[in-house]
Amino acid sequence: MLRSTLLAASRSRLARRLVEGAPLTRSVVDRFIPGATLDDALAVTGALAADGRYVTLDHLGEDTTDIHQATATVDAYLRLLRRLDEAGLTGRAEVSVKLSAVGQFLPDIGEKVALDNARRICEAAATVGTTVTLDMEDHTTTDSTLGILRELRADFPWVGAVLQAYLRRTEGDCRDLAGPGSRVRLCKGAYQEPASVAFAQKSEVDLSYVRCLKVLMAGQGYPMVASHDPRMIAIAAKLAHQAGRAADSYEFQMLYGIRDAEQRRIADEGNRMRVYLPYGDEWYGYFMRRLAERPANVAFFLRSLVTR
Ligand code: FAD
Repeated sequence: MLRSTLLAASRSRLARRLVEGAPLTRSVVDRFIPGATLDDALAVTGALAADGRYVTLDHLGEDTTDIHQATATVDAYLRLLRRLDEAGLTGRAEVSVKLSAVGQFLPDIGEKVALDNARRICEAAATVGTTVTLDMEDHTTTDSTLGILRELRADFPWVGAVLQAYLRRTEGDCRDLAGPGSRVRLCKGAYQEPASVAFAQKSEVDLSYVRCLKVLMAGQGYPMVASHDPRMIAIAAKLAHQAGRAADSYEFQMLYGIRDAEQRRIADEGNRMRVYLPYGDEWYGYFMRRLAERPANVAFFLRSLVTR
């Protein structure tokens, strides 16, 4: 109930005005989004890399219906990639892109604009020697996003996809995307979805996650295990071992600000551990999804409002 209210609020303009206008302590948002500027993001990336972790950077923004805004987002990614290269961080850091931020929702021309814009980002990533992963948004975008992924992979076979275990279709998508070199980030899924397309119970989502992990670990691609759930992490490690995978043939991923000690433990044990690091001013949707994932975050947020 709380989860669906927060997820509905994440797409409400009124709720956005209320939350953004609230006397919200920056420290609450900072827990998940450590900086508004590119310099902030690069400083955190450098620190995580020095600590033995990998990073994927997300320039915050989504649901763009303005072509100039979509172009501005592409420019922000091109600046980010240039700066990662100058800082010598491209061996440790890649970028994550939401297609809705680069034009996917523009009426009539959205898919073409998003493909062209994503292509520009991939070209820049190739130039500096790093990779791009396409985030996955709600289920109405899945076919379009996978279609754009296919087109991009013809020229840039290393482009990563995100698949969401809560969708009933995802085990099949995992089979389709488990081929040689295919980078797939498997997460549980963060949006509000109807029962016709998504599992509603946590236990069903977890079982689906494990089925998908089995397909990906037994496949020939590069699985990216994006979860903070200790059970999913343990099962992934066991499946990787059973499949005879080397430590550099898959990786674990978590969001910045969540289970930091566990991130370190996983990295210290010789595994690849990548941190998803968002930055920028457009933090509202991302922040609300993080609140929706864990009721304790809401309590923390409310406490910060009253104890200011
Ligand atoms: P859960 O069962 O939700 O959580 C397990 C445990 O992790 C919890 O008990 C708690 O201890 C901790 N935890 C989880 N979430 C939080 C939180 N917000 N705050 C504090 N503790 C928490 N979703 C998409 O729909 N599309 C994407 O493109 C996408 N990209 C992602 C990329 C990465 C690298 C990661 C890690 C997640 C991504 N997600 C994405 C979000 C994902 O779908 C889940 O909503 C989120 O990861 C919570 O699921 P979980 O697997 O951690 O398991």
